[in-house]
Amino acid sequence: MSELINRENKYYMQVARRQPVVIVKGEGTIVWDEDGKEYLDFTAGWAVNNLGHCHPVLVKAVQEQAQTLMQTSNQFFTVPQINLAQVLIDNSCLDRIFLSNSGAEANEGVIKLARKYGKLHRDGAYEVITALNSFHGRTLTMAAATGQPHYQEQWQPLAPGFVNVPYNDIESIKSATNAKTCAVMVEPVQGEGGVNVPDAGYLKAVRQWCDENNLVMILDEVQTGIGRLGSLFGYQKFGIEPDAITLAKGLGGGVPIGAFLAKDKFCVLAPGDHGSTYGGNALTCAGAFAVVNYIVKNKIADEVNSLSEHLKTGLESLKEKHKAIEEIRGMGLLIAVQFNADISGDIVGQCNQEGLLLNPVRPNAIRIMPPLTVSYSEIDIAISKLDAAIGKITS
Ligand SMILES: *Cc1c(COP(=O)(O)O)cnc(C)c1O
Repeated sequence: MSELINRENKYYMQVARRQPVVIVKGEGTIVWDEDGKEYLDFTAGWAVNNLGHCHPVLVKAVQEQAQTLMQTSNQFFTVPQINLAQVLIDNSCLDRIFLSNSGAEANEGVIKLARKYGKLHRDGAYEVITALNSFHGRTLTMAAATGQPHYQEQWQPLAPGFVNVPYNDIESIKSATNAKTCAVMVEPVQGEGGVNVPDAGYLKAVRQWCDENNLVMILDEVQTGIGRLGSLFGYQKFGIEPDAITLAKGLGGGVPIGAFLAKDKFCVLAPGDHGSTYGGNALTCAGAFAVVNYIVKNKIADEVNSLSEHLKTGLESLKEKHKAIEEIRGMGLLIAVQFNADISGDIVGQCNQEGLLLNPVRPNAIRIMPPLTVSYSEIDIAISKLDAAIGKITS
């Protein structure tokens, strides 16, 4: 094991299940380890590096901002914050934005908004319905929102005010709704939960239910937002307009940032209700603005649809060949391959050897989420590496 990994084992809290790879450099879809070995990175920093690693547009924006102005408090206005707010609002169905530093924080903020809306306009209602198998972040409150026992059991007592119901099941939302309910929050496609795409009518039915009952419809787009599903925002794929969304991951393309956006009717937070020292920081906003602006101007999300078809076709051909593959599912460049046994850890380990980085999202499934700028030939190479890895593990 490398000296660096030994040092990490000595000094870092052992909370991450890491692959034995020390990444020292990245460019586009490629990263290099400490020995100079090259990998195709189909994890993209967990669906963060949407323009690939160190895209010149992002690097330049951050460099220039770093030598101009990095941080002011939110007692003042800054140019990058206003630019970022505008490009997101002008290109979405939402009217206003608040900037945070992460996805979990964005979700915390939007729950405050929903509770205040419930207090003002639904008789003090405060309960939020979320889905089983969801993922909304690692703060204590988001542990209650995240409908997975693994993220909840150790942190009892959980924050009150959340009900977890089966995903892709509108009836379960209807029966969980009562006088205390103020909002429904779901992911357009569940990412961390194993890449679960809902039926075509699900989000429409949620939309209608929220309209009928004066509930805030919140979409957690931390993973699906900013082009990942083949549209700038995931909701655009489902023919609905949510009342509020949260973003993070791909929003910064590598700089840490999050956001929640809402329609005017739901913008009930008043001065002093919410805030963040770093939220909307000039440095990260300059980076995020460069990323979003580039993705919008160059219609990157459109290309994601053809890249997705290409990737799925390649994976389907692997499915024909390898009996171990049970299912290919996903949307845009958020795809999972499910196996008939708990071999995803072995497959990912073998892919490391082959020079391809993937995420074992479930014991029996891998998640594939390359940068949105991945090329067709890089997809072909990744397919052949995965082919070799599956062959070696299942032979
Ligand atoms: C990653 C993720 C989060 C949490 O984001 P952090 O930046 O890690 O706090 C929340 N929701 C979804 C859907 C995610 O994928």
